[in-house]
This record gives sequence, structure tokens and C-alpha cells, in this order.
Amino acid sequence: KQLQIAIDGPAAAGKSTAAKKLATRLGGYYVNTGDMYRTLAWAVLRAGVDPRADEAGVAALLPQWDMHYRPAADGGLQLYFNGETVRQDDIRAPEVAAVVSYIAQIPAVRAWMLSRQRECRALGVIVMEGRDIGTVIFPDAKYKFFVTASPEERARRRFLQKGEVADGATLATVAAEIAERDRIDSTRATAPLKPAADARVLMTDGLDQDAVIEALLARIAV
Ligand code: C5P
Repeated sequence: KQLQIAIDGPAAAGKSTAAKKLATRLGGYYVNTGDMYRTLAWAVLRAGVDPRADEAGVAALLPQWDMHYRPAADGGLQLYFNGETVRQDDIRAPEVAAVVSYIAQIPAVRAWMLSRQRECRALGVIVMEGRDIGTVIFPDAKYKFFVTASPEERARRRFLQKGEVADGATLATVAAEIAERDRIDSTRATAPLKPAADARVLMTDGLDQDAVIEALLARIAV
């Protein structure tokens, strides 16, 4: 059985935790497309190409590269880049967060991701998290959610996720990094961040993680 549930929204809105738990509850796979963009950003940096200044250089790298999610022993999915497992420590680094939105606005990158993300359909029941899943990747997804929270709430949540903030970061610098990523994500020409016309918008300020899952599950009949 194939079924797609799309969960889009801005950075640090609580999407990942909700999507992961939802996938477990539904007996499906959680697919994190942000990790795919982060992996590409990490690989571009490692190749010595400047993602901010050299769009053509980034596009030229893509044909030699590949990326796939495959079922892992723990029942979840493992992301592979050119046949090697992707390490969370590498792609959660602040240097990657600083450039990922520049990579993600390059049309050649989005086209490259589109086919790789659509392939995930073959995994069966999937809860796919990202920015353009309901609008571009799976416009026919059976369920679409746009999970969001106020900028202040999102900055606070991200600041509390220690692994993801740079040494010396303050609430103010984290808020500025998120605001900059939101600005780039929502103003880019290709697949800008916005709710699909038929998405349910869920504002999560003041909701704990369980309340978010329950709100999503209440809308799903499988
Ligand atoms: O979800 P996460 O915050 O890890 O995503 C990192 C970045 O990847 C986003 O800020 C955005 O620039 C990009 N992205 C995207 N489209 C997606 C998923 C992520 O443009 N579907």
C-alpha cells in the first residue's frame, strides 16, 4: 500500500518530532527531506564550492552524485550519499545550516531532489517532512499539514536543541539565523515555502509534542 502524508512548515516548528511519531503510530516510514538538502550542502562545502556565489559550480556537481533513503535494521530509514551512510553529526553542523537555504534555492538542485524524493513513494506508507512536499513533491498526497509556530517560539525551541546551535550562540543569534533561513525559503522563485491550498495549518505555540501528534492523528483515517 502506498500513502503519502505531507508535513511542511518553517524551521524549528516541531515538524520532525511530530512527523517521526506519526510515522511510528501509522506503521510507516518517516522521510526527512531537510536532511537531503543538508547532505547536499555538506557535500558541496566538502567539494570546496561556494554555495552562495557559485550556482553553476553546484549544479555541475549534481550529475556525479546520488542520494537514497533505504530501510535500516532499526525499522527506520537510513540516508545514503554516493553509497555511504550520512552522519547526523556532519549535516547538523552550524556551517551546514548557514548555507543550506542557498543550496535549496538553486533550480537545478530542486529538480535533482524532486525525482529522488518522489522515488520514496515506493517505500509504502510515508510521512514526509519538508517545505514543498504538499505543494510540489506530492501535490496529490492524501493528507497535507502545514505545521508552524511564531518566530519567537521557534527560536526558543531551536536554542534548546543544543546540538544544532553554534558555540557562543545566544537566543538572539539563533533567532536571526532562523529568520534569515525563513526569508530565503519563502521568497525563492522555485517552490517557495507556503502552505498548499488544501493543507491543514496547525499553529503549535503553547502545544506540547503529544498535543501536536494528537491534532494530526485526529485528521487522519487509515
Ligand atoms: O528541515 P530543515 O530545517 O532541516 O531543512 C533545512 C533547509 O533545507 C531549509 O531551511 C530549506 O532551505 C531546505 N529545504 C527545502 N525544501 C525541503 C526541505 C528542506 O528547501 N523540502
